[in-house]
Amino acid sequence: MHTSKVLVHNRDRSEIESEENYLPLNVLRLSKRFGGIHALNEVTFNIEEKSIISLIGPNGAGKTTFINVVTGTYPPEAGMIYFQGQNITGLPAHKIASLGIGRTFQLQELFLSLTVLENAMVGCHTRGRAGMFAAGLRIHPAKADEKRLREEAMENLKMIGLEQRASDSISSLPLGERKLVGMARALGMRPKLLMLDEPVAGLAAHEIENLVRLIHSLIDRGLTLFIVEHNMPFVMSISERVIVLDEGFKIAEGPPDDVRANEKVIKAYLGE
Ligand code: ATP
Repeated sequence: MHTSKVLVHNRDRSEIESEENYLPLNVLRLSKRFGGIHALNEVTFNIEEKSIISLIGPNGAGKTTFINVVTGTYPPEAGMIYFQGQNITGLPAHKIASLGIGRTFQLQELFLSLTVLENAMVGCHTRGRAGMFAAGLRIHPAKADEKRLREEAMENLKMIGLEQRASDSISSLPLGERKLVGMARALGMRPKLLMLDEPVAGLAAHEIENLVRLIHSLIDRGLTLFIVEHNMPFVMSISERVIVLDEGFKIAEGPPDDVRANEKVIKAYLGE
């Protein structure tokens, strides 16, 4: 088990195990270093079910690193991550994805040679045995499975409003629409917690409005959303709670209005 590499504090464990209702995500004193850079410094917070929580902070604050560590791209140096009461610290990315944490990427990692629908199907494939690699190579599962996956991917494309573009090549889509396909792909894995890395960057105003509607419809379907984003009007209008990182440290956490008025936050952004 990978957790042996991670410092485990007994107090952390009892803090979590005493929770009566397991929250989707509990993060305790999470740290990650890259050489001399402390990308995350003992970051602690919880994410409640069906909530919209945003993580903000100046460039290099550690936001993407946080998503990468929670989703298993990198193991943490220290700290604990619990998902619905289960210790997922240091588990490999495919295992964490199969437990129900989905993500999108800042620079979309879509297959440019595939169509919009085929890209959306990659998420559904990944949930099954074939995996993303096989999906990228167009190694198809059995016919019945294929039909089911296609229908499900089509449903997800409808949800993001791109069903009309299903047979278009992904490379013909503008960046904003590619980002939405990235969301459809993540939804194909039927996540319970969806982590969005800068979903708004590159989107036109009407696309942002669609994204807001989509996020609310995902909450209605029972998902929990965690958003890393620089667009402050978007963050402040959509989030129930905002967490602020600066140089790897959590410097503030609270409702949008409190965070906006927080002196440490103002200083961190002015410093930028
Ligand atoms: P931005 O808003 O600019 O995307 P961020 O808050 O997402 O920034 P991260 O990308 O998490 O910040 O980076 C945090 C720090 O860790 C930065 O100093 C970055 O250079 C460093 N870092 C991140 N990933 C790596 C890596 N794979 N190797 C070395 N250093 C890294």
